[in-house]
Amino acid sequence: MTERPERFDPRTYEAGWRERWAADDIYRADDDDPRDKHYLLTMYPYPSGDLHIGHWYAATGPDIVARMRRMQGLNVMFPMGFDSFGLPAENAAIDRGVHPWDWTEQNIDRMRTQFRSMGCMFDWSREVVSSDPSYYRWTQWLFIQFFNAGLAYKQMAAVDWCPKDQVVLAREQVEGADRHCWRCGTPVVKRDLEQWFFRVTRYADELLDFSKIDWPDPLRLMQTNWIGRSEGAEIAFTVEAAGVDPIRVFTTRPDTIFGATFMVLAPEHPAVAALTTDERRAEVEAYVADARRQTEIERMSAEREKNGVFIGAQAINPMTEERVPIWIADYVLPGYGTGAIMGVPAHDERDYAFAARYDLPIRYVVLPAGGAAPDGEAFVAHTADEVLVESGEFTGMKAADAIAAITEELAERGQGEAAISYKIRDWLISRQRYWGAPIPIVYCDEHGPQPVPEDQLPVLLPRDVDFAPTGVSPLQSNATFLAASCPICGKPARRETDTLDTFVDSSWYFLRYCSPNDQEQAWDPVAVMRWMPVDLYTGGAEHAVLHFLYARFFVKALRDMHHLDFDEPFMAVRNQGQILGADHHRMSKSRGNVVNPDDLTSRFGSDTVRCFLMFIGPWDQGGPWNPSSIEGVHRFLGRVWAVAQATGGQPRAVPGMPPAQSLAGEVPGSGGMAPDTVTAIDDGSRKLRRAAHRAIKEVGEDFAEFHFNTALSKLMELTNALGAARDDGLAGTDAYAEAVEALLLLLAPLAPHISEELWSRRGKPYSIHQQAWPTFDAAMVVSDTIELPVQVDGKLRDLLVVAADIPAEEIERLALASERVQAYLKGRAPRKVVQIPGRLINVVTPGD
Ligand SMILES: [Zn+2]
Ligand SMILES: [Zn+2]
Repeated sequence: MTERPERFDPRTYEAGWRERWAADDIYRADDDDPRDKHYLLTMYPYPSGDLHIGHWYAATGPDIVARMRRMQGLNVMFPMGFDSFGLPAENAAIDRGVHPWDWTEQNIDRMRTQFRSMGCMFDWSREVVSSDPSYYRWTQWLFIQFFNAGLAYKQMAAVDWCPKDQVVLAREQVEGADRHCWRCGTPVVKRDLEQWFFRVTRYADELLDFSKIDWPDPLRLMQTNWIGRSEGAEIAFTVEAAGVDPIRVFTTRPDTIFGATFMVLAPEHPAVAALTTDERRAEVEAYVADARRQTEIERMSAEREKNGVFIGAQAINPMTEERVPIWIADYVLPGYGTGAIMGVPAHDERDYAFAARYDLPIRYVVLPAGGAAPDGEAFVAHTADEVLVESGEFTGMKAADAIAAITEELAERGQGEAAISYKIRDWLISRQRYWGAPIPIVYCDEHGPQPVPEDQLPVLLPRDVDFAPTGVSPLQSNATFLAASCPICGKPARRETDTLDTFVDSSWYFLRYCSPNDQEQAWDPVAVMRWMPVDLYTGGAEHAVLHFLYARFFVKALRDMHHLDFDEPFMAVRNQGQILGADHHRMSKSRGNVVNPDDLTSRFGSDTVRCFLMFIGPWDQGGPWNPSSIEGVHRFLGRVWAVAQATGGQPRAVPGMPPAQSLAGEVPGSGGMAPDTVTAIDDGSRKLRRAAHRAIKEVGEDFAEFHFNTALSKLMELTNALGAARDDGLAGTDAYAEAVEALLLLLAPLAPHISEELWSRRGKPYSIHQQAWPTFDAAMVVSDTIELPVQVDGKLRDLLVVAADIPAEEIERLALASERVQAYLKGRAPRKVVQIPGRLINVVTPGD
């Protein structure tokens, strides 16, 4: 910074300050710093190639809070990295012939440079890159811990398959009513494949407990619904077939069991083949084959006619001891509950439709007290006065009590017990793709799947493979990779060629940030104890059921394996909104509506872009891109530039213009002022100090609440107050200096460069980002109050005591609410209300 141009031109100072901050390493989070830690995490991005404006939007919010927390005296860790495994790199290899390694590396280099241009306080010394062998070595190590703990297992499963991406999808990656691929939008199909799973269902109950964390309600609700817990009973129906175990059904309504007049199995139920009689076999097999072709959503559709086939077998209703026919129907899914239901047509709409179609008995067993059965439909209402009818010894019992009583009776007979059912399935983690961490397993003919010994990690992803999507993992094309030896017997073994879902990588990256360079272990327990859990995590709400759920599962599972000693990864979460394209659609390269921040930063500087993004609206809402007001935000920073450099000896500076030469004698000095001028300055100083202290209070509160747009408004007000004070000749006063310094300190988190530049120009110590957050004087932030006479038809009737800056509408509301005014209005609306601001308010009655 040799030369200091007077004009406001961010290009003259922004890059220089960034270089200095980086050279001085001022944002490094020190493990040994004795101050209280604050771990602020923002989601690490996928290295797609270019940082778009959405990345800026997502990163600026937490950067502001991180900077403020740091100035408030906390030891803040704010790391950044790259979630760099995943499909787009592999698709780039297929489409453009670029190797995924090279494509990813180039993109990371580019995005790192772009991120640096934002001026965020990321601690780059902690960067993690999930596709780097030094990282995925530990992802593989974690897989082995899960495998050894029985939390990773392999199973044949009908899985969702994207025919375009040629990849298996997790349930969470299948979206919408038409069940399309989350990445490319192609409708998914079912395939039977051997797949690896993580046993996330074991933690379903604990994952429903949010009592220890401060998360947004929509996020909690989405996770709760995804887990989908319901209470009821599991009931065993014996079957009339030799060698077939009783069939278990889950129901939330054991009180309706006396109305169970048939049983339905999912076509895929394992007992179907053994139970089907010879004369029914051909029809049953045709139906099973057909059901397998339907998508889950087709099978679950409420509009679709319920159809099925009788398989020739009978079960025994354990309460009525009647024989009930066993059917198969595709509206029963193998993945839900037990894959079998008791058909209670009188109390379930789908069962009713099924029974009506196939002429099965419909028996009402629960009715409102004294009420009659509805005509031609199921009775499904849950009213408090429902009682059981035609239910043997339970007849007359309240339905709510009968649930417990019947469950108990079944338990005594060994034919059932209270049970809980969940919608959540285990997490499918294997992918038949290249660009991911190889699953560290070898298969021995004698010893089956064996984890790779930990001292042989990482299982390196080979460079040389054939990327053509064939539906099998590209790693199968590399013979050297495939060859392994069994860790138990040493004989030749075959290496697993599937790779891990990238959501496995992101389920622990926040732990790696604590000791990113540790070569001996996934994390240093001392560092994790120092930093974890994350105090505040920010990111997109679209990860509600994926990443947020998996990361919680990881921490709980690792706690139970004694690798961690806390229950939750993220104490608080805030979700940003999404910046849409100007066409109100999600920004995407294919739509051509992506906004590149580089053009804006080269024109306006990073501070203006940051402030503009935060000024668009509430941070958690986002909105469509509309750059029309960016000039206004830029002018605001120009005004800050001008007011911060005004001195008592200088005339008014114009933003963007070099200041005129100051002329001695034209500027009021403090020496020879007339007494009334002094009074005016005292009064002006008092007002300015109040404005500054109010801003300190409110901007700090707004930042903490992620209300950056309102914080900016308050900084604009303070800047305007400074401009007015300067024009009144106050620029040389202590009050003016105090207000300018407060403005710069409050602005520092939002606009780190201009605040540093102006701080330095005022001769203050480097760096503004290492200064203490300003504090306010509580006495200064109380508004002045005034007494306001309230007239009715010109006569004084009441007196309001209100804040001096109260808006006119609020005064009117208070005046009309006054009992004394109401006594004259007698419930009528006033004819008109007249206000003389700061003097009086007059309510004119309608007259008669
Ligand atoms: Zn796809
Ligand atoms: Zn072996």
